[in-house]
Amino acid sequence: MVKPTRIVLLGSTGSIGRSTLKVVAENPDRLKVVGLGCKSSLELLVEQIRLFSPQVVAVDEGRGQELAERLGAGPKPVILEGMKGQVELAGWPGAEMLVAAMVGSAGIKPVLAGIEAKKQIALANKETIVLAGELIMAKAKENKVSLWPVDSEHNAIHQSLAGSRREDLHSITLTASGGPFLHWPAQDFEKIRLADALNHPKWSMGKKISVDSATLMNKGLEVIEAKWLFGLEVDQIKVVVHPESILHSLVSFKDGSSIGQFGQPDMCVPIAYCLGQGLRLASGVRPLDFGALGRLTFEKPDLERFGCLKLAFEALRLGGGAPAALSGANEEVVADFLAEKIHFTEIPKRLAALMVQLSKAVADPKGPPFLRRIESLNDALAADAWGRQSILV
Ligand code: MG
Repeated sequence: MVKPTRIVLLGSTGSIGRSTLKVVAENPDRLKVVGLGCKSSLELLVEQIRLFSPQVVAVDEGRGQELAERLGAGPKPVILEGMKGQVELAGWPGAEMLVAAMVGSAGIKPVLAGIEAKKQIALANKETIVLAGELIMAKAKENKVSLWPVDSEHNAIHQSLAGSRREDLHSITLTASGGPFLHWPAQDFEKIRLADALNHPKWSMGKKISVDSATLMNKGLEVIEAKWLFGLEVDQIKVVVHPESILHSLVSFKDGSSIGQFGQPDMCVPIAYCLGQGLRLASGVRPLDFGALGRLTFEKPDLERFGCLKLAFEALRLGGGAPAALSGANEEVVADFLAEKIHFTEIPKRLAALMVQLSKAVADPKGPPFLRRIESLNDALAADAWGRQSILV
């Protein structure tokens, strides 16, 4: 009998974390959770600890005692705290695989720790690749670690590339659902409220990524991710709007063939592919009934109404720390929108103004060097911080 893959899951109480645990529960002989990390949802974490009996957990700084009390009497996992705890958990010796499902740039240090500890990485944390793609890919290569992309689009590209020669690749096409405002006329964008932006038509996701989907910044971040994950030129990456979210992305080859991955819009499918490291595990999701699907549609993205996608391509062309700066700035404006401090239309407006500033700073020989070139984790974090500070001024 094959020994189960032992997994550490960071971000266990978030949307991807909960789906990951569903897939684990579908495959008790193949997968075993040994570590769980989360920030603040202790109530749900307690429930997960009871169901999966991990050896170790990590929570926010100063919340360990509270967790221990909530768990009550009886055997408890080792409880770690703060970023130090997340990093220790990522490199936990009793695990072969790290599922990185935490949100935001806080994911980058634990992912690096996991790579250095030679864990297989199932990567759902976009910011890690957006901020430091070149660095992370080099580290993974050096440590002979595979990165399994959880994000449905990159997972689809990974599946579609399997068995082909890289030199035969022409381009890739990321599909985008278009979000809740796909067919809203530009003048109606003024009427958008927070609840509208959080109400994604196809995918159930966390709040930050739901807003990013509504602005299409999510697709922009995915374009940046795709460049690094698959070693592509910017011009090899295309985006098409596909509102049904059934074709999850595709690759095109030099002979004119295109191959894509279809499936229900349910994150358990790409998660199962990652946890199985390419083997097909049970995901709890049924294959599509194509006859019942009816029509699948495709259209070009509108870069005028959804300026964020254009900004991401611009940042990627600028290179260096520009994508990290844009991503950091985006996290800040989205947080302000979620706190109802700014209107939806302010998100692309503020980010466009930041890009002007960013282009100047990159072109200026006396500008911050980390905006021109990322050579270390600190450079990546500095570029992210530059974006955050510059957008708040
Ligand atoms: Mg996606």
